[in-house]
Amino acid sequence: MADSCFESDPDFCPECGTILPLPGLEQHVACHKCGFQISVHAFEGTEILSEVVFNDPDSLRATLNMEDEAREPNGPEVDRKCSRCGHEGMVYHTRQTRSADEGQTVFYTCTSCRHQEKEDS
Ligand SMILES: [Zn+2]
Ligand SMILES: [Zn+2]
Repeated sequence: MADSCFESDPDFCPECGTILPLPGLEQHVACHKCGFQISVHAFEGTEILSEVVFNDPDSLRATLNMEDEAREPNGPEVDRKCSRCGHEGMVYHTRQTRSADEGQTVFYTCTSCRHQEKEDS
């Protein structure tokens, strides 16, 4: 008869060896037999959970830009050579920048490789 390994078994009362109930909402688990109490934190181990917070404005802006590029290029097509792949024909759209001094910015999107160029007017 082989010896069984009890390492993965539920916790036992260190006082009398009775199987302890599973920890619930209580802060302590009490042995049914002898009343020995163990803090539920003993069941949680020593793992420290770190919370990653995504509130960095730069990463947020990067996400917005990605969504922007994922959009299908639509708009009037102009005879403009893509500086990236050499394809003739780019779709352009204009966008008003926040600063009035900078005026309008024209964005060109290559219909072949989706490369984007911008030109301030
Ligand atoms: Zn006990
Ligand atoms: Zn291109």
